[in-house]
Amino acid sequence: MKIARVEVYGYDLHYIHGTYVMSGGREVAALPSTVVRLVTDEGAEGWGEVCPLGTTYLPAFADGARAAIRAMAPALLGADPRHLGPVNDRLDGALAGHAYAKSPIDIACWDLLGQAAGCPLTVLLGGRRQDRYPLYFAVPLGTPADMAAYTAARRAEGIHRFQLKVGGRPHEDFARVRRVLEATGDDDVVIADANGGWALQDAIVAARLLDPLPRVYLEQPCATLEECLAVRRHTTLPMVLDEVITDVPSLLRAAAAGGLEAFNLKISKVGGLTKARLLRDLAESLGLRVTIEDTWGGDLVTAAVSHLAASTSARALFTVSFMNDWVKEHLCGYEPRSHAGIGQAPSGPGLGVRVDRALLGSPLFSAAA
Ligand code: MG
Repeated sequence: MKIARVEVYGYDLHYIHGTYVMSGGREVAALPSTVVRLVTDEGAEGWGEVCPLGTTYLPAFADGARAAIRAMAPALLGADPRHLGPVNDRLDGALAGHAYAKSPIDIACWDLLGQAAGCPLTVLLGGRRQDRYPLYFAVPLGTPADMAAYTAARRAEGIHRFQLKVGGRPHEDFARVRRVLEATGDDDVVIADANGGWALQDAIVAARLLDPLPRVYLEQPCATLEECLAVRRHTTLPMVLDEVITDVPSLLRAAAAGGLEAFNLKISKVGGLTKARLLRDLAESLGLRVTIEDTWGGDLVTAAVSHLAASTSARALFTVSFMNDWVKEHLCGYEPRSHAGIGQAPSGPGLGVRVDRALLGSPLFSAAA
């Protein structure tokens, strides 16, 4: 089996609840998503998707993904997509870094591998450990009343895990968390995620305020690992790291420093399913929990997430997001689809979803052998 054609498509994803707000005035209403279709010499097709969260969340953006994929595409032609190691070697040989742009290619190769093997990616990623797992929803940064109302609305839909956006003035953030806690129940999880937006001093003030509250987890209070470690020395709040965990060395550094109990494993942030599986397995070995998700995306991103989550032990899985519940557009008939806050992986081979190509139009560009 050889990759004979690489096609790249673009489409826009609109946030389902209006405007998504994070610390530092970062707002998202719609985002360009990039889809990769790999076609083999035998006519099989594999799909992958990457959707960076705007231009200032991580060092990643949609135009960057497209330019990087254009640069790497020729190196894929002739490669056997089932051999993920050599495929990743080719990508790294064509372009240093740019992990996020490699993610949809890696996922599309996994899709082809799964189809060739006749089994869902859940099996190839370690085997089915969970049929069903709880999902979380992020609560956009807003007034305490608005955030509590948003939480209550999602809770009525079956969601019991919430990641609320903070990272403003500490006393206002404290009010946000307290109001959201009042809108939730004893079994609900509430994660205060500053997205690195607090200055160190403000983060310590916020952590001191939040520390006595029940059921609160703190996520990525400041931009750097060193700052997050400094915050941690002042609080008993369980710590989730996200933006600073990008690869194996950064995870091992944070774990060795005692900097976290959990981290957010975004598939595109680490470069695709090959590396995400490695980080997931490391997390389990280190006694850490993972949230499995991606920066943003539609049905294809969600399918990849769903299989990695299904093959993760319940003990190690903190929570999961199905990004296709957060957006209006659906390339695969809104599959995989959550039910009342619970996610499941498709049972068909590969990603287990079928793309409606009519929704994508013509490729932005392609490369062929
Ligand atoms: Mg986060």
